[in-house]
Amino acid sequence: MKKILIVGAGLTGCVVARELAEYGGYSIDVIELRPHIGGNCHTERCPDTGIMQHIHGPHIFHTNNKEAWEYVNKFAEFIPFINRVMATTSAGIFSMPINLLTINQYFRRKMSPSEAKDFLASQCIKFEGEPNNFEEQALATIGPDLYENFFKSYTVKQWGCQPDALSAEIFKRIPIRYTYDDNYFTDAYQGIPKFGYTEMMGRMLDHTNIKVAVNTPFDHSIVKGYYSIVYTGSIDKYFDYQYGRLGYRTVYFKKRIAEGNYLGNGVMNFCEDSLHTRIHEHKWFSPWERHESTVVFTEFSKETSVIDTPYYPKRLANDLAILQLYNDLAKTLYPRMRFAGRLGTYRYVSMHEVVDSSIALARSLRRNL
Ligand code: UDP
Repeated sequence: MKKILIVGAGLTGCVVARELAEYGGYSIDVIELRPHIGGNCHTERCPDTGIMQHIHGPHIFHTNNKEAWEYVNKFAEFIPFINRVMATTSAGIFSMPINLLTINQYFRRKMSPSEAKDFLASQCIKFEGEPNNFEEQALATIGPDLYENFFKSYTVKQWGCQPDALSAEIFKRIPIRYTYDDNYFTDAYQGIPKFGYTEMMGRMLDHTNIKVAVNTPFDHSIVKGYYSIVYTGSIDKYFDYQYGRLGYRTVYFKKRIAEGNYLGNGVMNFCEDSLHTRIHEHKWFSPWERHESTVVFTEFSKETSVIDTPYYPKRLANDLAILQLYNDLAKTLYPRMRFAGRLGTYRYVSMHEVVDSSIALARSLRRNL
Protein backbone atom coordinates (compact mmCIF):
# COMPACT_ATOMS: atom_id res chain seq x y z
CA MET A 1 0.00 0.00 0.00
CA LYS A 2 1.32 3.45 -0.89
CA LYS A 3 0.83 5.88 1.97
CA ILE A 4 -0.88 9.15 1.08
CA LEU A 5 -1.34 12.11 3.40
CA ILE A 6 -4.24 14.46 2.83
CA VAL A 7 -4.13 17.68 4.79
CA GLY A 8 -7.63 19.03 5.36
CA ALA A 9 -10.98 17.22 5.57
CA GLY A 10 -12.99 19.73 3.55
CA LEU A 11 -14.74 18.78 0.34
CA THR A 12 -11.47 18.57 -1.64
CA GLY A 13 -9.74 16.33 0.90
CA CYS A 14 -12.79 14.07 1.24
CA VAL A 15 -13.30 13.55 -2.51
CA VAL A 16 -9.60 12.94 -3.22
CA ALA A 17 -9.37 10.53 -0.27
CA ARG A 18 -12.45 8.59 -1.37
CA GLU A 19 -11.35 8.35 -4.99
CA LEU A 20 -7.90 7.06 -4.09
CA ALA A 21 -9.40 4.61 -1.60
CA GLU A 22 -11.74 3.26 -4.30
CA TYR A 23 -8.83 2.70 -6.68
CA GLY A 24 -7.20 0.43 -4.11
CA GLY A 25 -3.50 0.15 -3.36
CA TYR A 26 -3.42 3.33 -1.26
CA SER A 27 -3.59 3.82 2.46
CA ILE A 28 -4.83 7.34 3.13
CA ASP A 29 -4.41 9.43 6.24
CA VAL A 30 -6.55 12.56 6.41
CA ILE A 31 -5.61 15.13 9.03
CA GLU A 32 -7.83 18.03 9.98
CA LEU A 33 -7.03 20.99 12.21
CA ARG A 34 -10.63 21.60 13.25
CA PRO A 35 -12.52 19.32 15.64
CA HIS A 36 -14.78 18.17 12.79
CA ILE A 37 -14.61 17.25 9.12
CA GLY A 38 -16.49 19.19 6.44
CA GLY A 39 -14.39 22.32 5.99
CA ASN A 40 -16.44 25.39 5.23
CA CYS A 41 -19.37 23.23 4.08
CA HIS A 42 -19.77 22.00 7.67
CA THR A 43 -23.36 21.58 8.82
CA GLU A 44 -24.45 20.94 12.37
CA ARG A 45 -27.80 20.89 14.16
CA CYS A 46 -28.43 23.74 16.57
CA PRO A 47 -28.53 22.13 20.04
CA ASP A 48 -31.41 24.42 21.14
CA THR A 49 -33.73 24.17 18.14
CA GLY A 50 -32.60 21.08 16.21
CA ILE A 51 -32.36 23.17 13.04
CA MET A 52 -29.62 22.15 10.59
CA GLN A 53 -27.20 25.07 10.39
CA HIS A 54 -24.81 25.84 7.56
CA ILE A 55 -22.14 26.91 10.02
CA HIS A 56 -20.01 28.84 7.51
CA GLY A 57 -22.87 30.29 5.49
CA PRO A 58 -25.45 28.79 3.12
CA HIS A 59 -24.21 26.08 0.77
CA ILE A 60 -26.38 24.96 -2.12
CA PHE A 61 -24.88 22.31 -4.35
CA HIS A 62 -25.43 23.17 -8.01
CA THR A 63 -23.87 21.79 -11.15
CA ASN A 64 -24.43 21.17 -14.83
CA ASN A 65 -22.13 18.20 -14.69
CA LYS A 66 -24.14 15.00 -14.40
CA GLU A 67 -21.06 13.09 -13.28
CA ALA A 68 -20.50 15.46 -10.32
CA TRP A 69 -24.21 15.32 -9.39
CA GLU A 70 -24.28 11.52 -9.51
CA TYR A 71 -21.05 11.47 -7.55
CA VAL A 72 -22.36 13.46 -4.56
CA ASN A 73 -25.65 11.55 -4.67
CA LYS A 74 -23.74 8.34 -3.98
CA PHE A 75 -22.98 9.67 -0.50
CA ALA A 76 -26.16 11.51 0.44
CA GLU A 77 -29.80 11.86 -0.45
CA PHE A 78 -30.03 15.28 -2.08
CA ILE A 79 -33.35 17.10 -1.94
CA PRO A 80 -33.87 19.50 -4.85
CA PHE A 81 -33.54 23.07 -3.60
CA ILE A 82 -33.89 26.37 -5.45
CA ASN A 83 -32.13 29.29 -3.83
CA ARG A 84 -34.37 32.35 -4.10
CA VAL A 85 -32.50 35.31 -2.70
CA MET A 86 -34.04 38.63 -1.72
CA ALA A 87 -32.13 41.89 -1.66
CA THR A 88 -32.79 44.89 0.56
CA THR A 89 -31.79 48.11 -1.18
CA SER A 90 -32.42 51.77 -0.39
CA ALA A 91 -35.30 51.60 -2.92
CA GLY A 92 -37.01 48.58 -1.32
CA ILE A 93 -36.80 44.78 -1.35
CA PHE A 94 -36.26 43.04 -4.66
CA SER A 95 -35.56 39.64 -6.10
CA MET A 96 -31.89 38.77 -6.70
CA PRO A 97 -30.27 37.91 -9.13
CA ILE A 98 -31.54 40.74 -11.25
CA ASN A 99 -34.37 39.35 -13.36
CA LEU A 100 -37.36 40.75 -15.21
CA LEU A 101 -39.35 41.14 -11.98
CA THR A 102 -36.47 43.05 -10.37
CA ILE A 103 -36.09 45.33 -13.40
CA ASN A 104 -39.81 46.04 -13.77
CA GLN A 105 -40.36 46.63 -10.06
CA TYR A 106 -37.23 48.72 -9.60
CA PHE A 107 -37.92 51.00 -12.60
CA ARG A 108 -41.72 50.82 -12.03
CA ARG A 109 -42.29 49.67 -15.61
CA LYS A 110 -44.16 46.86 -17.33
CA MET A 111 -41.54 45.82 -19.85
CA SER A 112 -41.44 42.63 -21.89
CA PRO A 113 -38.15 40.70 -22.00
CA SER A 114 -37.00 42.41 -25.22
CA GLU A 115 -38.10 45.86 -24.00
CA ALA A 116 -36.21 45.36 -20.74
CA LYS A 117 -33.14 44.24 -22.64
CA ASP A 118 -33.22 47.32 -24.89
CA PHE A 119 -33.92 49.55 -21.90
CA LEU A 120 -30.96 48.24 -19.88
CA ALA A 121 -28.74 48.38 -22.98
CA SER A 122 -29.56 52.07 -23.22
CA GLN A 123 -28.41 52.53 -19.59
CA CYS A 124 -25.12 50.65 -19.98
CA ILE A 125 -21.74 52.28 -20.32
CA LYS A 126 -19.56 51.24 -23.24
CA PHE A 127 -15.86 50.68 -22.68
CA GLU A 128 -13.14 50.45 -25.25
CA GLY A 129 -12.23 46.77 -25.35
CA GLU A 130 -13.38 44.32 -22.71
CA PRO A 131 -14.42 45.63 -19.27
CA ASN A 132 -11.44 44.82 -17.11
CA ASN A 133 -12.70 44.97 -13.54
CA PHE A 134 -15.85 44.30 -11.48
CA GLU A 135 -17.13 47.88 -11.75
CA GLU A 136 -16.63 48.15 -15.51
CA GLN A 137 -18.24 44.75 -16.03
CA ALA A 138 -21.26 45.83 -13.99
CA LEU A 139 -21.59 49.23 -15.70
CA ALA A 140 -21.31 47.55 -19.11
CA THR A 141 -23.93 44.91 -18.24
CA ILE A 142 -26.58 46.65 -16.12
CA GLY A 143 -25.72 50.36 -16.11
CA PRO A 144 -25.01 52.74 -13.19
CA ASP A 145 -28.44 52.73 -11.51
CA LEU A 146 -28.71 48.99 -10.82
CA TYR A 147 -24.98 48.80 -10.14
CA GLU A 148 -25.12 51.53 -7.46
CA ASN A 149 -28.21 50.08 -5.78
CA PHE A 150 -27.55 46.36 -5.89
CA PHE A 151 -23.80 45.88 -6.16
CA LYS A 152 -21.59 48.76 -5.12
CA SER A 153 -22.10 48.92 -1.33
CA TYR A 154 -22.54 45.17 -0.98
CA THR A 155 -19.29 44.56 -2.84
CA VAL A 156 -17.35 47.14 -0.82
CA LYS A 157 -18.62 45.49 2.38
CA GLN A 158 -17.99 41.97 1.09
CA TRP A 159 -14.51 42.54 -0.33
CA GLY A 160 -13.23 45.54 1.65
CA CYS A 161 -12.00 47.36 -1.44
CA GLN A 162 -13.41 49.38 -4.29
CA PRO A 163 -15.06 47.26 -7.01
CA ASP A 164 -12.68 48.60 -9.66
CA ALA A 165 -9.88 46.71 -7.90
CA LEU A 166 -11.73 43.38 -8.26
CA SER A 167 -11.80 40.98 -11.17
CA ALA A 168 -14.67 41.19 -13.69
CA GLU A 169 -15.10 37.43 -13.14
CA ILE A 170 -16.63 38.05 -9.69
CA PHE A 171 -19.46 40.08 -11.24
CA LYS A 172 -19.97 37.40 -13.90
CA ARG A 173 -20.76 34.82 -11.20
CA ILE A 174 -24.30 36.20 -10.98
CA PRO A 175 -26.66 35.99 -13.96
CA ILE A 176 -28.77 38.90 -15.25
CA ARG A 177 -32.02 37.53 -16.62
CA TYR A 178 -34.69 38.91 -18.91
CA THR A 179 -37.18 36.33 -17.64
CA TYR A 180 -39.05 35.92 -14.36
CA ASP A 181 -36.71 33.12 -13.34
CA ASP A 182 -35.54 34.07 -9.84
CA ASN A 183 -33.37 31.01 -9.21
CA TYR A 184 -29.99 32.25 -7.91
CA PHE A 185 -28.23 29.55 -9.93
CA THR A 186 -28.68 28.40 -13.49
CA ASP A 187 -27.47 24.79 -13.26
CA ALA A 188 -29.49 21.73 -14.21
CA TYR A 189 -28.91 19.97 -10.86
CA GLN A 190 -29.42 21.84 -7.58
CA GLY A 191 -29.97 20.49 -4.09
CA ILE A 192 -29.01 20.16 -0.45
CA PRO A 193 -28.23 16.86 1.28
CA LYS A 194 -31.10 15.83 3.53
CA PHE A 195 -28.86 15.30 6.56
CA GLY A 196 -26.30 17.99 5.81
CA TYR A 197 -22.89 18.15 4.17
CA THR A 198 -20.87 16.90 7.12
CA GLU A 199 -22.82 13.64 7.16
CA MET A 200 -22.22 13.32 3.40
CA MET A 201 -18.48 13.85 3.80
CA GLY A 202 -18.40 11.42 6.72
CA ARG A 203 -19.68 8.78 4.30
CA MET A 204 -17.02 9.70 1.78
CA LEU A 205 -14.35 9.11 4.41
CA ASP A 206 -15.97 5.91 5.68
CA HIS A 207 -13.66 3.43 3.93
CA THR A 208 -11.27 0.81 5.29
CA ASN A 209 -8.31 2.44 3.52
CA ILE A 210 -8.95 5.91 5.00
CA LYS A 211 -7.99 7.04 8.51
CA VAL A 212 -9.13 10.43 9.74
CA ALA A 213 -7.62 12.46 12.59
CA VAL A 214 -9.36 15.69 13.62
CA ASN A 215 -7.81 18.28 15.97
CA THR A 216 -4.55 17.53 14.17
CA PRO A 217 -2.55 20.47 12.84
CA PHE A 218 -0.18 19.99 9.94
CA ASP A 219 3.51 19.96 10.76
CA HIS A 220 6.23 19.75 8.11
CA SER A 221 7.89 16.89 9.98
CA ILE A 222 4.93 14.52 9.43
CA VAL A 223 5.34 14.26 5.65
CA LYS A 224 8.21 11.81 6.11
CA GLY A 225 7.12 8.31 5.23
CA TYR A 226 4.35 9.42 2.87
CA TYR A 227 4.53 8.62 -0.79
CA SER A 228 2.49 11.62 -1.76
CA ILE A 229 0.84 14.57 -0.01
CA VAL A 230 -2.28 16.51 -0.98
CA TYR A 231 -2.31 19.81 0.88
CA THR A 232 -5.61 21.68 0.95
CA GLY A 233 -4.65 24.42 3.42
CA SER A 234 -3.52 27.89 2.36
CA ILE A 235 -0.50 27.76 0.09
CA ASP A 236 1.03 30.90 1.68
CA LYS A 237 0.74 29.33 5.14
CA TYR A 238 2.43 26.14 3.93
CA PHE A 239 5.45 28.20 2.90
CA ASP A 240 5.40 30.10 6.21
CA TYR A 241 4.33 33.32 4.47
CA GLN A 242 7.90 33.79 3.22
CA TYR A 243 6.77 35.95 0.28
CA GLY A 244 4.03 37.63 2.30
CA ARG A 245 0.37 36.87 2.92
CA LEU A 246 -2.25 36.33 0.24
CA GLY A 247 -5.34 38.50 0.71
CA TYR A 248 -8.48 36.75 1.88
CA ARG A 249 -11.78 37.99 3.20
CA THR A 250 -13.20 36.19 6.15
CA VAL A 251 -16.80 36.24 7.27
CA TYR A 252 -18.24 35.98 10.76
CA PHE A 253 -21.75 35.57 12.03
CA LYS A 254 -23.91 36.76 14.89
CA LYS A 255 -26.38 34.01 15.71
CA ARG A 256 -29.77 34.53 17.24
CA ILE A 257 -32.62 32.17 18.02
CA ALA A 258 -36.20 33.38 17.74
CA GLU A 259 -39.70 31.98 17.57
CA GLY A 260 -41.56 31.54 14.30
CA ASN A 261 -40.35 33.10 11.12
CA TYR A 262 -37.76 35.89 11.00
CA LEU A 263 -36.96 36.60 7.33
CA GLY A 264 -39.52 34.52 5.49
CA ASN A 265 -36.68 33.32 3.27
CA GLY A 266 -33.30 31.58 3.39
CA VAL A 267 -31.20 34.59 2.39
CA MET A 268 -31.64 38.35 2.44
CA ASN A 269 -28.78 40.37 0.96
CA PHE A 270 -28.26 43.89 2.26
CA CYS A 271 -27.17 46.03 -0.67
CA GLU A 272 -27.46 49.36 1.15
CA ASP A 273 -24.99 50.95 3.58
CA SER A 274 -25.14 48.70 6.62
CA LEU A 275 -22.46 46.82 8.50
CA HIS A 276 -23.70 43.36 7.57
CA THR A 277 -23.83 41.82 4.10
CA ARG A 278 -26.50 39.16 4.53
CA ILE A 279 -28.89 37.51 6.94
CA HIS A 280 -29.65 33.81 6.59
CA GLU A 281 -32.43 31.89 8.24
CA HIS A 282 -31.32 28.30 8.35
CA LYS A 283 -34.57 26.38 8.57
CA TRP A 284 -35.38 27.40 5.00
CA PHE A 285 -32.39 25.35 3.80
CA SER A 286 -34.20 22.24 5.04
CA PRO A 287 -37.78 23.04 3.96
CA TRP A 288 -38.62 19.34 4.28
CA GLU A 289 -38.33 19.74 8.08
CA ARG A 290 -40.77 21.57 10.38
CA HIS A 291 -39.50 23.82 13.18
CA GLU A 292 -41.47 26.24 15.36
CA SER A 293 -38.41 28.26 16.32
CA THR A 294 -35.80 29.72 14.04
CA VAL A 295 -32.03 30.26 13.83
CA VAL A 296 -30.77 33.40 12.14
CA PHE A 297 -27.18 34.28 11.25
CA THR A 298 -26.24 37.88 10.45
CA GLU A 299 -23.12 37.83 8.27
CA PHE A 300 -20.27 40.33 8.36
CA SER A 301 -17.13 40.37 6.26
CA LYS A 302 -13.64 41.50 7.22
CA GLU A 303 -10.00 41.19 6.26
CA THR A 304 -8.39 37.93 7.38
CA SER A 305 -5.74 38.03 10.08
CA VAL A 306 -3.45 35.07 10.87
CA ILE A 307 -5.93 33.73 13.44
CA ASP A 308 -9.02 34.00 11.20
CA THR A 309 -10.41 31.37 8.86
CA PRO A 310 -9.72 32.43 5.26
CA TYR A 311 -12.89 32.31 3.11
CA TYR A 312 -12.71 34.32 -0.09
CA PRO A 313 -9.43 34.68 -2.05
CA LYS A 314 -9.32 38.35 -3.08
CA ARG A 315 -6.96 37.81 -6.05
CA LEU A 316 -5.98 41.45 -6.36
CA ALA A 317 -3.00 42.24 -8.62
CA ASN A 318 -0.56 42.13 -5.70
CA ASP A 319 -1.99 38.79 -4.50
CA LEU A 320 -1.54 37.24 -7.92
CA ALA A 321 2.11 38.38 -8.03
CA ILE A 322 2.72 36.74 -4.62
CA LEU A 323 0.78 33.63 -5.69
CA GLN A 324 3.11 33.25 -8.68
CA LEU A 325 6.10 33.07 -6.31
CA TYR A 326 4.40 30.40 -4.18
CA ASN A 327 3.34 28.44 -7.26
CA ASP A 328 6.97 28.48 -8.45
CA LEU A 329 8.03 27.07 -5.09
CA ALA A 330 5.25 24.47 -5.28
CA LYS A 331 6.59 23.29 -8.65
CA THR A 332 9.88 22.32 -6.97
CA LEU A 333 7.90 19.90 -4.76
CA TYR A 334 5.81 18.46 -7.61
CA PRO A 335 4.77 15.65 -8.21
CA ARG A 336 5.10 14.37 -4.64
CA MET A 337 3.28 17.34 -3.18
CA ARG A 338 0.01 18.67 -4.62
CA PHE A 339 -1.78 21.84 -3.59
CA ALA A 340 -5.53 21.58 -4.08
CA GLY A 341 -8.87 23.16 -3.27
CA ARG A 342 -9.89 26.75 -2.67
CA LEU A 343 -7.03 27.49 -0.27
CA GLY A 344 -4.34 25.36 -1.88
CA THR A 345 -4.88 26.92 -5.30
CA TYR A 346 -6.07 30.31 -4.02
CA ARG A 347 -9.13 30.26 -6.28
CA TYR A 348 -12.72 31.28 -5.62
CA VAL A 349 -14.48 27.98 -6.35
CA SER A 350 -17.97 26.60 -5.84
CA MET A 351 -18.61 23.12 -4.48
CA HIS A 352 -19.27 21.54 -7.87
CA GLU A 353 -15.95 22.85 -9.19
CA VAL A 354 -14.27 21.33 -6.14
CA VAL A 355 -15.86 17.95 -6.86
CA ASP A 356 -14.81 18.07 -10.54
CA SER A 357 -11.24 19.14 -9.83
CA SER A 358 -10.80 16.70 -6.94
CA ILE A 359 -11.93 13.73 -9.04
CA ALA A 360 -9.48 14.91 -11.73
CA LEU A 361 -6.69 15.28 -9.17
CA ALA A 362 -7.25 11.75 -7.86
CA ARG A 363 -7.11 10.43 -11.44
CA SER A 364 -3.88 12.29 -12.08
CA LEU A 365 -2.34 10.99 -8.84
CA ARG A 366 -3.27 7.47 -9.83
CA ARG A 367 -1.66 7.87 -13.25
CA ASN A 368 1.52 9.27 -11.77
CA LEU A 369 1.92 7.19 -8.61
N1 UDP B 1 -23.00 40.87 -5.09
C1 UDP B 1 -23.57 42.10 -4.82
N2 UDP B 1 -24.85 42.16 -4.36
C2 UDP B 1 -25.60 41.05 -4.14
C3 UDP B 1 -25.02 39.80 -4.42
C4 UDP B 1 -23.73 39.74 -4.88
O1 UDP B 1 -22.91 43.12 -4.95
O2 UDP B 1 -26.76 41.18 -3.70
C5 UDP B 1 -21.61 40.82 -5.61
C6 UDP B 1 -20.57 40.58 -4.52
O3 UDP B 1 -19.40 41.31 -4.86
C7 UDP B 1 -20.32 39.09 -4.63
C8 UDP B 1 -20.42 38.88 -6.12
O4 UDP B 1 -21.48 39.77 -6.53
O5 UDP B 1 -19.07 38.70 -4.14
C9 UDP B 1 -20.69 37.47 -6.55
O6 UDP B 1 -21.89 37.02 -5.93
P1 UDP B 1 -22.02 35.55 -5.37
O7 UDP B 1 -23.37 35.36 -4.84
O8 UDP B 1 -21.50 34.59 -6.37
O9 UDP B 1 -20.99 35.66 -4.18
P2 UDP B 1 -20.71 34.68 -2.99
O10 UDP B 1 -21.73 34.95 -1.95
O11 UDP B 1 -20.72 33.28 -3.53
O12 UDP B 1 -19.41 35.19 -2.61
